[in-house]
Amino acid sequence: MNTSDSTTRLDFIRAIVAEDLRTNKWDGRVVTRFPPEPNGYLHIGHAKAICLNFGIAAENAGALCNLRFDDTNPIKEEAEYIEAIKQDVRWLGFDWKDRLFYASDYFEQMYEYAVQLIKAGKAYVCDLTAEQIREYRGTLTTPGKNSPYRSRSAEENLDLFERMRTGEFPNGSRTLRAKIDMSHPNLNMRDPVMYRILHATHPRTGDKWCIYPTYDWAHGLEDSVERITHSICTLEFENHRPLYDWFLDELGIFHPQQIEFARLNLTYTVMSKRKLLQLVQETKVSGWDDPRMPSICGLRRRGYSPASIRNFCKHISVNKFNSTVDIALLEHCVREDLNKTSPRVMAVLKPLKVIIDNYPADQVEDLDAVNNPEDTSAGTRKVPFSKELYIEQEDFMENPPKKFYRLAPEREVRLRYAYFITCTDVVKNETGQVVELHCTYDPATQGGDSPDGRKVKATLHWVSADHSLPAEVRLYDHLFTKENPDDVPEGQDFKSNLNPNSLEVLTNCRLEPSLAGAAPLNRYQFERLGYFCVDPDSSYDKLIFNRTVTLRDPWAKIQKKQKKE
Ligand code: ATP
Ligand code: MG
Repeated sequence: MNTSDSTTRLDFIRAIVAEDLRTNKWDGRVVTRFPPEPNGYLHIGHAKAICLNFGIAAENAGALCNLRFDDTNPIKEEAEYIEAIKQDVRWLGFDWKDRLFYASDYFEQMYEYAVQLIKAGKAYVCDLTAEQIREYRGTLTTPGKNSPYRSRSAEENLDLFERMRTGEFPNGSRTLRAKIDMSHPNLNMRDPVMYRILHATHPRTGDKWCIYPTYDWAHGLEDSVERITHSICTLEFENHRPLYDWFLDELGIFHPQQIEFARLNLTYTVMSKRKLLQLVQETKVSGWDDPRMPSICGLRRRGYSPASIRNFCKHISVNKFNSTVDIALLEHCVREDLNKTSPRVMAVLKPLKVIIDNYPADQVEDLDAVNNPEDTSAGTRKVPFSKELYIEQEDFMENPPKKFYRLAPEREVRLRYAYFITCTDVVKNETGQVVELHCTYDPATQGGDSPDGRKVKATLHWVSADHSLPAEVRLYDHLFTKENPDDVPEGQDFKSNLNPNSLEVLTNCRLEPSLAGAAPLNRYQFERLGYFCVDPDSSYDKLIFNRTVTLRDPWAKIQKKQKKE
């Protein structure tokens, strides 16, 4: 399956946009937005929303997409997150140009809109506590009860609301609520809270405000002020849409269309920022950019390319039904991209010394190696060959079972780009562990073929012992052992499903010398092993690589099987 094929069929949201353009619904305008709350780093789920919103803007001439920080909650938000979010959106390949906005810039305007609703008798100051408000709200099957403060006059409400703003009242003592219908079948419409009192310093507005707007009140106003046409959000907001519409209609202001789509869920992954933050704070991972994290910065450090993430998002498309995507598909997308783009090199992760007895001790040959068989323009490079080499420990077995075709006593195999070698002797240490092999090579097989047509069944990668560079290589597995990490016995949480073997650090690896000075985030294919990326911790003296994915593609197998059935 080729996941980079663009599907010509439009998803349902792009179809709505196309139809609106055709009918000139918004005077030919299309303006979307990506509105992260700066309370954590972005994850692969956000990438889906980014590719959708910025994608629509990129695909339609004149269409725009705003980056808007929904910074309405001063408690959990930090400047660090804002910078990280900007970096991640840019890295994914999108550009908000001069369209960077902050919800907090609209606080004054939001306050005036609230005053407008109070004057119209559509909002009131309520003295119930949060807990009482919950009690009064009723349930899905029973109607709520009116707050005893619901019938305050507009004058009294205006006075109290202003005093809320000036800081006269303590946290939680009062709220401003919309006056809608306490028996409305949709609980969100039962006099929802618009403002709460919170004496907290905001990263951008400082101590100017001690009342802060709720999501439901603020979000539609932000969209309206920015004259968004298509306000795209995830399905959990579907039953908030009547409230979104109510606020904008009561105010009589510009009214975007809210459209909901299914959020991305991935197997073996948690996606909520709250849970990811917990992993970071409890040091279950090394940070937000730990290569096992589904965060954009984690995926970047792991070696994912922006194109692979965009292709993944294109492939899963956008629909209205919640489902969980197999993480194997994400891995398939990165393999597909890196197969085309990444240079091949040879690296030995668990070295076993090989001595070629009939090779001259002082000889070194520079052999030609292909950089990328998928891309002839990538050319070739020289790889040094000498008397002492390393191969992979697992490429040798003293007593090979059937179907093990790699090196064994008396057996001949090919060394990639080099020669046929035959194992003649096995050296073990006192514990019986194989520590060194002696081999002979056939000089007539240079380049990897035998003039007499002799066949070998295996080709091994290798490095020259003296020329190779030491390196640390970090191997990763799924962060969780269960497809659904939230599937836990009573009394436990998702962290009990953490995979204790999700990180394996190999400190004794050897790399071909062309990797000297490899820059952080450069991506390579280590022949026969997988795709690897230089970790930012890497330095000239100490190279460190992360394994992005192995070469084996379970997703391709799943596809084949499904086709057969
Ligand atoms: P989380 O639940 O992970 O904390 P959130 O929805 O609170 O995420 P926001 O910062 O509010 O995070 O999200 C910004 C935008 O990204 C929203 O429009 C939201 O709908 C979208 N988004 C968040 N998570 C996903 C997801 N898993 N799949 C698709 N879109 C998502
Ligand atoms: Mg949110």
